[in-house]
Amino acid sequence: MVVDFHAHYPQEDGFAERLVELLPAAGIDRICLCSAGAAFGHAPNDVVLQAAKEYPQQIIAFALIELGKDSPARVDEYVARGFGGFKITNPLSPYDNPDYFPVYERIEASGLPLLAHTGILMRIAREPGRIVNSNWMRPVCLDAVVRSFPRMNVVGAHMGVPWHDEAATMARMHPNYYVDLTGACRGGGWRANKTLEFFRHHFFWENAWDKVLFGTDILALDELLLSRRFHDEMLRPIGLPEDTMKKIYGGTAARLLGIQDEAATPKK
Ligand SMILES: [Zn+2]
Repeated sequence: MVVDFHAHYPQEDGFAERLVELLPAAGIDRICLCSAGAAFGHAPNDVVLQAAKEYPQQIIAFALIELGKDSPARVDEYVARGFGGFKITNPLSPYDNPDYFPVYERIEASGLPLLAHTGILMRIAREPGRIVNSNWMRPVCLDAVVRSFPRMNVVGAHMGVPWHDEAATMARMHPNYYVDLTGACRGGGWRANKTLEFFRHHFFWENAWDKVLFGTDILALDELLLSRRFHDEMLRPIGLPEDTMKKIYGGTAARLLGIQDEAATPKK
């Protein structure tokens, strides 16, 4: 089973329907959709959840938690409503602000995974009185978090660009920290100048690739095939064993999401 762990829902009517039609062409079985908020042009949580209710076989809805705004009880509410994971980005202070810990505590209790934006954030419209600071989303800002909540699985997006060493070291040191290699769908973004050596250098330890998840980070339908192809062409030269590739492309995600990986279950 191929699981896209990181994708977005734009403010666009009929997106879910057209996405589900396109998934087979991209070879994707399940897709996790989340919102980063209206500032990014994303649909709100409710729209994402509605899509998951309409297409439960294909779409998993992740709820955006606004750190510093949303209460811990909001997490429980999202779980009860059927969200399958959580997303955080653009906090009001560093990810490891202890004020946020009651929220993380509820996420840990839910057993659902947390997708965290890590690294530099795209430029967004300024909101009066609000500071945007990528330094608050460095991978190491999740160090105290994953230590304090050892049963909460965190996936740090974009391999923490440009703090790749931090991201890889976090994945090496913490059993509950993972990364994805998402970047700009067109042209590859930060990945465009990365060679085979880059990946060998960062993922050098035994079973390192068990900590990497596939994602497309799409915000538009025409990005799906492009993004899938870029990811494939990036990983193929590394020559990873087939079972490792299966984990990257869905096995690990299925485990974190608590869903059945049909490919791993022999059919009778
Ligand atoms: Zn994203």
